Amino acid sequence: MAITEITAKSLLRKFKKIDSWFVARYGMNLYRGCTHNCLYCDGRAEGYYVEGEFGRDVAVKVNAAELLRKELNPLRKRKPMRPGFMLIGGGVGDSYQPAEEQYGLTRKILEVVYEFDFPVHVLTKSTLVRRDIDILKKIDGKSRAMVSFSFSSADDRISKVFEPGVPPPSERLRNIAFLKDQGISCGMFLMPVLPYVTDTRELMEETVVKAKEAGVDFIIFSGLTLKEGRQKQYFYEALKTYDPGLVPEYDKLYTGNTWGQASGTYYDEINKTFRDVTDKYAIPKRIPPELYRDFLDQNDLVVVMLEHMDYLLTLRGEKSPFGFAAYSISKVKEPLSSKKSELTGLKGVGNYTEKIILEILDTGNSILYQKLMGR
Ligand code: SF4
Repeated sequence: MAITEITAKSLLRKFKKIDSWFVARYGMNLYRGCTHNCLYCDGRAEGYYVEGEFGRDVAVKVNAAELLRKELNPLRKRKPMRPGFMLIGGGVGDSYQPAEEQYGLTRKILEVVYEFDFPVHVLTKSTLVRRDIDILKKIDGKSRAMVSFSFSSADDRISKVFEPGVPPPSERLRNIAFLKDQGISCGMFLMPVLPYVTDTRELMEETVVKAKEAGVDFIIFSGLTLKEGRQKQYFYEALKTYDPGLVPEYDKLYTGNTWGQASGTYYDEINKTFRDVTDKYAIPKRIPPELYRDFLDQNDLVVVMLEHMDYLLTLRGEKSPFGFAAYSISKVKEPLSSKKSELTGLKGVGNYTEKIILEILDTGNSILYQKLMGR
């Protein structure tokens, strides 16, 4: 590991609209680069501009806590911050990677988040998060704390090959059980499943069953993307060692799409498998409303619920009018309740969607949403 200490100019990333996967308005990266060195990590892709050798070099934002305290200070703001989970992690470096043992930045950030009373969502692959159970519980008592772990499967043997620097899935699952036992909500981000390696129905089912036994509140799913350049080259080298016979199969799936996506037919197949398995075990496929409804503002509540419904309908192979409507609503500045009679004037909002929006505004819920979430 080669560490460079840097003084960052800013920390919080404000999302253009609420991110309905994480139900987050703001995110942050405390480390650039990640010595967990998962072989498929897209932080390696050129587009993220992570300097140095990914997997070995890490830049540490040593002034992160000080910056966050400044950025959250209400006296410095012209506009109040929008409520939503503050996302710690994801992107280009795990916030609980080994450097965190030395720097304790994530812990300091959690202390600031507690001070300013924000809900927090931590995404990690590391069991080091357990160290911070005391502060997570304090945040949860005041606003809300949630921890999600990402997995490519529950198979320890496969993880050792493709995720060499992180605790095995069995340990991550034990940590979910521990955190749940301490009252902290937990999710699984089953992403990415690796084609022909961890995407089989048997392994996906085993993973979902183990997640359920550990007590997860939801599982969010996605397939692998492989961007041309460093990310794809690095992954292919590993694939050749793991099973050279898979290389021509990957060539058929990944044909150079700008976003590194595989063929649509392949994603349809794995999405169907995921849907079948999570339906069988009644696991929510998005963060359930009881974990966010109480703190979002009304416009974001509508956007999140519409986007969740859009995903859940599409996953069932059904048409959805909700995605476009959610996008239009995300642009509305005034509270939606003050525009109840003008909703159908918004792009993508027809009579049917209008009815659902009014139901959410009046009750904080939707019967269709509950049905799609399997509630
Ligand atoms: S833990 Fe996350 S950020 Fe780190 S290498 Fe693995 S996938 Fe990338």
